[in-house]
Amino acid sequence: MLIKYICVKYIYLFLTIWYNFIGCYKVESIYNKSLGDLEKYFENIKEKKYKATQIFEWLYEKRVSSFDEMSNVKKSVIEKLKQDFIIDKLNVIKEEKDVEVNKYLFELEDKTLVESVLMMHDYGKSLCVSSQVGCNMGCKFCESGRLKKIRNLSPSEMLLQIMTIEEKINTRISHIVIMGIGEPFDNYDNIVKFIEIINNPKGLQIGARHITVSTCGIVPKILEFAKLPYQVNLAISLHAATNSLRDKIMPINKVYNLDMLMDAVKKYINETNRRVTFEYILLDGVNDRKADAIKLCDLVAGINCYINLIPYNETNHLEFKRSKKDTILNFYDIIKKRNINVTIRREFGSKISAACGQLRSKKEDV
Ligand code: SAH
Repeated sequence: MLIKYICVKYIYLFLTIWYNFIGCYKVESIYNKSLGDLEKYFENIKEKKYKATQIFEWLYEKRVSSFDEMSNVKKSVIEKLKQDFIIDKLNVIKEEKDVEVNKYLFELEDKTLVESVLMMHDYGKSLCVSSQVGCNMGCKFCESGRLKKIRNLSPSEMLLQIMTIEEKINTRISHIVIMGIGEPFDNYDNIVKFIEIINNPKGLQIGARHITVSTCGIVPKILEFAKLPYQVNLAISLHAATNSLRDKIMPINKVYNLDMLMDAVKKYINETNRRVTFEYILLDGVNDRKADAIKLCDLVAGINCYINLIPYNETNHLEFKRSKKDTILNFYDIIKKRNINVTIRREFGSKISAACGQLRSKKEDV
């Protein structure tokens, strides 16, 4: 009786451990791996690390969709790769076109949705990539943030936004802006990995100067980002030049206020020697008066930056209105006269709600 009891107990224990082991052992997208990760992987399985470069060439140059197509890789390695990874795809469920802009709605594996926007510039094609499903930053004027964050996107989910669209349009995308749904610095590690892969000469070969990350101002991550060895562009969503106003429209300001933010930006510039972009949406009667322009100039005086004025894209759900054309031009003039670099952002895709802050992850809005 006792022996029977002990046997049952051990079988139960064994099954529990086995079950947990299987549960943890999930096959991962190969697109989550940087070249360095794959080199380590091959070293761990006692293979030569140059194989990582071969795999990268198959994935990003030849764009194969199965491991079996990797004809210069030996069978045993292909079998091992098949056990550990998948070559996955992203599902486009809707595509809309406007003048010089296409919007793509992706359905992810867990049925959540994100959007990407492709813009045709004279200098090339630029893709606005989403970094999260939903967003927790709660900026009052932003449509994308009406849905709270459900989860972070993995590096592969960001990368596949690019690769899927490139395949559809049969053209290379030369510029990436991480300005779609989500706060990139709230998904920091995945963003860094994503940049590593798209910037790699054996990966998507997108030059660092052609990649822009936009943040609402997560100070510790700006400082961390400054230490990275990439020459990526940094854009800061400023939108207000005083704490009292910024507190009202961007809740992140209550955590990292303007003093902390500007201090981090200065450190970033010292460290990287790079110019920073300040994005400033013009909201009618909120932040677009002459006094606001002067405060903005004072705030950025002496900083190596340029200001991108963004005509607000109105949405059905939010009460903010776009500033009048004259107001926008006057605001621009005040800054220009102070010899600060300033542009008014060219508009794309407002007809198909593909403009900044209009991207959604919500099914009811599809
Ligand atoms: N979370 C990041 C990136 C996503 S938003 C950030 O805050 O920077 C990309 C840019 O679009 C930001 O500057 C954001 O403030 C701006 N934006 C949001 N809603 C907008 C709208 N309705 N019209 C114009 N720009 C908007």
